[in-house]
Amino acid sequence: MPFRFDNSYRRLPDRFHARVLPTPVADPRFVALNRPLATELGLDLAALEEHGAAILVGNRIPEGAEPIAMAYAGHQFGQFVPQLGDGRAILLGEVIDRAGRRRDIHLKGAGQTPFSRRGDGRAALGPALREYVISEAMHALGIPTTRSLAVVATGEPVYRDKALPGAVLTRVAASHVRVGTFQYFAARGDTEGLRELVAHVIDRLYPDAAGAATPALALLEAVVARQARLVAQWLHVGFIHGVMNTDNMAISGETIDYGPCAFMDEYDPATVFSSIDQRGRYAYGNQPAIAQWNLARFAETLLPLMDPSEDRAIERATAVLGSFAALFDQQWLEGMRRKLGLATAEDGDVALAQDLLEAMQASSADFTLTFRGLCGAARDPAADAALRKLFANPAACDAWLVRWRERLARDPLAAPERAARMRAVNPAFIPRNHRVEQALDAAVDRGDLAPFEELLEVVIRPFEDRPALARYSTPPQPEERVLQTFCGT
Ligand code: AMP
Ligand code: MG
Repeated sequence: MPFRFDNSYRRLPDRFHARVLPTPVADPRFVALNRPLATELGLDLAALEEHGAAILVGNRIPEGAEPIAMAYAGHQFGQFVPQLGDGRAILLGEVIDRAGRRRDIHLKGAGQTPFSRRGDGRAALGPALREYVISEAMHALGIPTTRSLAVVATGEPVYRDKALPGAVLTRVAASHVRVGTFQYFAARGDTEGLRELVAHVIDRLYPDAAGAATPALALLEAVVARQARLVAQWLHVGFIHGVMNTDNMAISGETIDYGPCAFMDEYDPATVFSSIDQRGRYAYGNQPAIAQWNLARFAETLLPLMDPSEDRAIERATAVLGSFAALFDQQWLEGMRRKLGLATAEDGDVALAQDLLEAMQASSADFTLTFRGLCGAARDPAADAALRKLFANPAACDAWLVRWRERLARDPLAAPERAARMRAVNPAFIPRNHRVEQALDAAVDRGDLAPFEELLEVVIRPFEDRPALARYSTPPQPEERVLQTFCGT
């Protein structure tokens, strides 16, 4: 058997979850299998390759698995929904990986559950491959994220606006507990449930909070810090989550629930791709404010555990939430210094970074290419020529480069060392929308996985220069542009 399960969430009281088995499908076949991740999880690769498709599609329940759908609530675009839950995902169980970390093995698209409402419990192949490639790219970029172990085609159609091939994605997470999980119990006035959830999460994800005078407050502090760091990291690579509902924010600080997410090409903080985000609530530049809003909803659920006096609880929670902005700014600035090749800190660095972004925005400069171009310019000013071409107004680029070089002159790094450090944080390759779309179209419409496999191979080594694959680093031609992305649920 390829898994050794130890299912701590299933041991929580019955009201935390519904016991439910995946619905078997006609003809499971691997479309993608993440062998390095399987090894990291301590799985038996040979057994996985032999029986894995049947297991990871939900046709065969491996020994020790105790499948459940988790209960949760959530604010969707600001509207509270007291019951959401895993409507098309089933937690097979938890394994301890080779590094001793507990990881959820979760089948997305495995059939209906008591939380499905009117949904079919299924996922289409395109969105499953999309989550696979983007989450693996995020991991390679050094950003905390759920991982993708496999995509298994079901051999059955799912019906969206048309019939599409169905698939199950195996998602691996440090935990699938969300802000919305806490909201589920808070909305029911179930303080005992909250207490158990807090204990579970602290034990599993934040053991340092266990010894604190008020563990719930220490948990809030830790989660605020992780989210501040996570969202700063998103901004550093031009990532737009797309649906930052509270049910799509993991308490672990991992990026979760890849739907209409996307990386931007030219820099503009107002960028939105999601077809359902008509008012830009989840635009690139709004993400820090939305994270803070979601954390306030999280804090509200913890109030009964923070202080017997509600006023004092609110005071304490507000103080922690108030630290978000400073933590975010600090994470953002430290990351920007790394992107700009600065090993030291000066007061003017914020303005230097912001002025570059403003010039990029005014000149519709490509986010990823600009920062990658700076790596070359750090080593040799001859590379400036290629960089300034990215700007509609090259003079704005020139003016900024003069200021940057003045600043670099006060920074101790030697040029080659600086350039090498910059190349390790400024990717050459991101999963650009048009390439993702092309790869998924080939897989779904023509059953051709070669473009998907090539794209994956490129984005899981994002910091290497690979001249033969340079076409993956460039922005779309006008006719290739992707203007909207979809959840595909
Ligand atoms: P998401 O938009 O993926 O974050 O999902 C929001 C909620 O809708 C969650 O409770 C999902 O389980 C549920 N959901 C999404 N798609 C489906 C589907 N095809 N069948 C059943 N439930 C779904
Ligand atoms: Mg979700």
